[in-house]
Amino acid sequence: MSFSSSVKDELVMNKNTSECCKHAEAYGLALFGKMFSSRAISFTTERSNVAKYYCDRIYGVTGVMPEVFVTKAGNNKIEVTSEEDRLKIYEHFGHSAKDVSLNINYSNFNCEECFKAFLRGVFLSCGTVCDPVKSYHLEFVVSYSRLANALIKIIEEFELVPKYSNRNFNHIIYFKKSVEIEDLLTIIGASESTIHFMVTKVEKDVKNRINRKNNFEYANMMRTIDAGLNQADAFKKLKASGKYDELSDELKALCDIRIENPGASLSELCEILGNTVTKSGIKHRLKKLVDLSKE
Ligand SMILES: [Zn+2]
Repeated sequence: MSFSSSVKDELVMNKNTSECCKHAEAYGLALFGKMFSSRAISFTTERSNVAKYYCDRIYGVTGVMPEVFVTKAGNNKIEVTSEEDRLKIYEHFGHSAKDVSLNINYSNFNCEECFKAFLRGVFLSCGTVCDPVKSYHLEFVVSYSRLANALIKIIEEFELVPKYSNRNFNHIIYFKKSVEIEDLLTIIGASESTIHFMVTKVEKDVKNRINRKNNFEYANMMRTIDAGLNQADAFKKLKASGKYDELSDELKALCDIRIENPGASLSELCEILGNTVTKSGIKHRLKKLVDLSKE
C-alpha cells in the first residue's frame, strides 16, 4: 500500500469531529472532488473506504447519497446523477447554479477546527503524499484556478507557504520541505502518519550520514594507496640509479619496505618497522627518499 493510501486510511478512521467540522469536511470533499458544479458532481478514488467515507459524509450533511461505480481499472467513481440532488448539495454549501466560477464559501466554517476538517476533506479528495523513503512531496491537484488560489490562502493561514505549478491543465499546490509536510499532515489529523514520516526521515538522515562517512574514509584510503604507489615507483628508480648504496641503513630499510608494501599506511609501516620509529619520523624519511629520487 502506498504511503498516501495509508494516510487516507488513517484520516477516514477519525471519529471525533463535531457537527460543524463534519460539515466543513464534507464541503472540502465535495468542492475539491473531480467535478463540483450544478452539471456534475463527481469524485474518483482507488480506495473503497475513502469512497464510502465521501458518500457517508455527503449524505450525513446534505441528505443526498451519491452513487458509486467501480470502473474497469478498479477505481471507485462517485457521482451525483440527479440534477435535483446536485442542486441540493450545491445550494447546501451556499453556492448558486449561477456562479460563474467557484470560490471557497467561508460561511461553511464555524470554528477554528472547521478549517482543519476542511483541509482533511480536500486532502482526501485531491491530495497525495510520497513515501518519505523516496522523496518529500505532498500535493493537491485542483481542477479550478480560483479554487486553487483560495486553497493557498487557507493553507497560508496555518503559516505554511505552498508552491504552485501547472500540470495537464490542473493546478498543483505542493510542498517539498519535510517539516512543512509534517505540519500539514498534523493539521489534517494524520498524527500516526506524521510520526511514521518523522521516523523515516531520521533513519534516512542517519543512513546518509553513514554513507558520507564511508565515502570520506574510502577517499582517504585511496589517497594513502595512491601516495604509497607513487613512492614505491620512485624508490625503485632510486635503487636502479645507484643512489641507494649511499643511503643510511634506516633509509635503505624504509625504501625496501615501501617497495614491498606500496599500499601500507604510515601506521602499518610503523608496525612493520617494529614500532622503532614514530609516524612523523617515517613521514620525514619518506619525504627525504622522495626528494632524493627526484635529484
Ligand atoms: Zn467546527
